[in-house]
Amino acid sequence: MLNMTQITKTYVMGEEEQVVLNNINLTVNKGDFVAILGPSGSGKSTLMNIIGCLDSPTSGDYYLSNQKVDELDEASLAAIRNKEVGFIFQQFQLLPRLNAIQNVELPLVYARVQEKDRKQRAREMLGRVGLGEKLQNRPNQLSGGQQQRVAIARAMVTNPTILLADEPTGALDQKTGQQIMELFHELHEEGKTIIMITHDIEIAKNASRIVRILDGKLREEFTYV
Ligand code: ADP
Ligand code: MG
Repeated sequence: MLNMTQITKTYVMGEEEQVVLNNINLTVNKGDFVAILGPSGSGKSTLMNIIGCLDSPTSGDYYLSNQKVDELDEASLAAIRNKEVGFIFQQFQLLPRLNAIQNVELPLVYARVQEKDRKQRAREMLGRVGLGEKLQNRPNQLSGGQQQRVAIARAMVTNPTILLADEPTGALDQKTGQQIMELFHELHEEGKTIIMITHDIEIAKNASRIVRILDGKLREEFTYV
């Protein structure tokens, strides 16, 4: 489903060249729940941006759903990103003036889905994440955990190939974070492929695979079934 070989990412700042990702190889299969674990500054967000087709590597091969991503132009990158990836962020990134259902249907607006179908699909997704009673609430009328559930519903509404989450519990207290991890477990059991970025080993242990990132290198740490 996802295959990276010898991915390198270099940032050039003036005279300085910084190798942030150094010959990374990563394969993710359908139905995997992978945690990418590393300290601050280790390149996690850089890797996430490449996985999510928000950025291109300096060199290496990247295939997502049998499409070669690393040589696509901006428009094709946007197309593959919208189709294949559902993003979940630490700070939820909901639009404050829209209510829950409007936030969730937004990707379907961009995909030009008809309003009736959009609303129905958004309602279904909000029900799926346990917010069937909060359809009309705006973000500031929801708790942090509920806002993240809206964001998860939004990420899933287009039925993407991969859910890609960057520190999804980073803004939540421990108990609420664990509830979000329980939702990830359920989605994983339903067959969703999830890649989760975190600096927190306790959060990473929720995944079925842990891959460590350190000094621009990846190392498979731990796998259980
Ligand atoms: P993490 O998400 O693990 O904290 P990042 O991927 O954000 O790490 O950053 C890894 C390194 O790359 C850091 O040293 C950071 O300063 C550098 N970096 C990230 N983005 C850029 C950029 N756009 N230009 C230059 N350097 C960058
Ligand atoms: Mg980061």
